[in-house]
Amino acid sequence: MPLPKNRIIPEKKVYFHPEILHCPDCGIKLKRHHTAWKKNISTLQGVIQVWNMAYFCPSEACGPLRRYFRSAQADALCMKHTSYGFDVLALVGDLRFKQHKTIGEITEALNERGVATSERNSMRLYERYLVLLRASVTDHTRIQLEKVVQENKGIMLSMDGVQPEKGNETLYVVREVFSGTILAAKNLKSGSASELMALLQPVKDMNFPVIGLVSDGQQSIRIAMETMWPNSPYQYCQYHYLKDIAKPVVDIDRKLKTGIKKTLRGIREIEKVVEKDTSDEAEIAKDYLAAVRSILLEDGNPPLDLPGIRIYENAQAVQKSLENCLSKKRASSPEKG
Ligand SMILES: [Zn+2]
Repeated sequence: MPLPKNRIIPEKKVYFHPEILHCPDCGIKLKRHHTAWKKNISTLQGVIQVWNMAYFCPSEACGPLRRYFRSAQADALCMKHTSYGFDVLALVGDLRFKQHKTIGEITEALNERGVATSERNSMRLYERYLVLLRASVTDHTRIQLEKVVQENKGIMLSMDGVQPEKGNETLYVVREVFSGTILAAKNLKSGSASELMALLQPVKDMNFPVIGLVSDGQQSIRIAMETMWPNSPYQYCQYHYLKDIAKPVVDIDRKLKTGIKKTLRGIREIEKVVEKDTSDEAEIAKDYLAAVRSILLEDGNPPLDLPGIRIYENAQAVQKSLENCLSKKRASSPEKG
């Protein structure tokens, strides 16, 4: 059995901005306002630190409306008041109901997949999964959403599908984005557009103005939402969408980064040589070494800003500068060569 990795420390930071980039009323570009929330989330892909940035419309024409837009995709990563990803939650449900595992076995399975957890936590996840599946449009929801409409001139809807493991059912979740309210959740095998429309029907029946729709790139979700609300603007979750199409590029980039880091590792030897040297040349060499060190710390933010490419470009710039410096030195003191 492979040892569970230590997943408490986040492996990467991901910043999310709202999928809706422009004000639905005046069309002006939204501006960043504050951090809506930030937390470490344990997912099946490791722990990520998620920052959800809240944006607002800066236009005076829109008046004193304090409405904040944030990323539906970030909200969809985990349930409120938990630090486990929806993918983990979906897996717990699958292990319990499809594979008939006990809580002890579920805990073991999660730890094996690198999700650090205890039996008590697994039990809580299981309970949350049950709560999630009971989500529906009730009188209470209607009152909540009336308030959302007053504050935001309408509701915004998002829908995602989370697949715990290949070949199994997909857990579909419908949310109201401003409030984070879960309006429906269901496990579906095929997840065809008509099945998804049936899931959305009670939401449509509430007849609230829908000022925006958000989802990932899955075609059946898009068709279902567009058919139900043909006049509402539609946005893809960029991160999800890009992650899917950019994955091969990100993988190659990671190899490039590892390779460059390996070749630059030799700088420790050079650092030892110049450490106590106070000559001008040694000082210049130290500056270059510091530059190389800082390059190695580059992290980027894939998929839009690839760390490997960034390191490569910066390393090239340092190399060029170093060559210029050496050729100048040769030109000024030819006798020394
Ligand atoms: Zn506006």
